[in-house]
Amino acid sequence: MFNNDTITRFQQLETPFYYYDLNLLRQTLRACREASDKYGFHVHYAMKANFNPKVLEAVQSFGFGADCVSGNEVKAAIEYGFDKGKVVFAGVGKSDREINAALDAEIFCFNVESVQELEVINELAAAKGKTARVAIRINPNVDAHTHHYITTGLDENKFGVNTWQLNDVADALRKHKNIQFIGIHFHVGSQITDMDVFKSLCVKINEIHQWFDEHGFTVKVLNAGGGLGVDYYSPDNNNIADFDSYFKVFKDFLNIKPGQEVHFELGRVLVAQSASLISKVLYVKNGLKKNFLVLDAGMTELIRPMLYQAYHQIENLSKSGSLEVRKSESPEAAPTTHNLQHTTQSTKYDVVGPICESTDCFRKDVDLPESFRGDLIAVRTAGAYGEVMASGYNLRDRVASVYSE
Ligand SMILES: *Cc1c(COP(=O)(O)O)cnc(C)c1O
Repeated sequence: MFNNDTITRFQQLETPFYYYDLNLLRQTLRACREASDKYGFHVHYAMKANFNPKVLEAVQSFGFGADCVSGNEVKAAIEYGFDKGKVVFAGVGKSDREINAALDAEIFCFNVESVQELEVINELAAAKGKTARVAIRINPNVDAHTHHYITTGLDENKFGVNTWQLNDVADALRKHKNIQFIGIHFHVGSQITDMDVFKSLCVKINEIHQWFDEHGFTVKVLNAGGGLGVDYYSPDNNNIADFDSYFKVFKDFLNIKPGQEVHFELGRVLVAQSASLISKVLYVKNGLKKNFLVLDAGMTELIRPMLYQAYHQIENLSKSGSLEVRKSESPEAAPTTHNLQHTTQSTKYDVVGPICESTDCFRKDVDLPESFRGDLIAVRTAGAYGEVMASGYNLRDRVASVYSE
């Protein structure tokens, strides 16, 4: 992914920083756009994945809507030129201030997560003499087969209303005059790569859709949420997800009636592969049982490995044949021979950051070519839930961003 010119450029810059390949970002956005257009589906970008200004500009330029989970995201989406008629607002704890701001902005839809929230939106809308469009977020109890920290669609999760609460939802919808029911909303988790999960989701959506039909509600919008995953193990071979197969599952398995709209909220899959965290080796510490590569980036720049044991490919860009040497770290890993071709000697390192926490480790026992102080290290597939989760812990500088153009 990185040619020699890019690596030379990196050597002149102060590390750490996020490097954005804007060309790959646009290619990904175009691929998604074309695949969704083919089926007439609507896609909202889940802004929380990455709200870097250049990323938002690129996403907006392809005409996507925005999926927001805070009042400030709603505000930013509109500032960045997203059509307010394509802004949806989810979140289990929307404050009165956030709801009021979204009512003022006249967004497309609130994705409502509880009966209590319906009441509050109704009351606040009434005070403004407005009617709020709402979709009900329903918990379909579908197991996303992803890390349990990032599942959201099980009965035990805090998100959405459960199916046994639908009668209460129906009562509230009938009672409240300042809300307009437009549809049903789902989001079962993140980093989902098993298409069967989406098939199961379709089956559940169909059941719930039928329930609303039978109870006299007109369902205009079917919103299947996001969650499509990316390949963290082969960022170069699989840099753009198979959007067509994903949307086709919904085309094939969702019961879509004439006049109904199908909406999606994709975050990670649109942005993850287009950025890497670039860092330098500060120290190589050889211990009795362990060798450590101490980087100048840590959990303050990219917390995903520490927060939910996320895997990121790690590469030493200063070596020829810079690919990380993968042995059998994962079932998905490509055959070893492919990656070993350039590497003469490899060492196992625990790749760690400088932060004063033992969990500040990108990964243990990473096979890398022998590495030295000053070597450039790339942590790949860091464009989603990376820069946006950076923190100032240890009074660290805010991580910089560098762009391919
Ligand atoms: C985070 C989120 C998404 C996007 O999830 P990805 O896994 O990044 O696609 C979509 N919808 C809602 C409601 C979310 O909270």
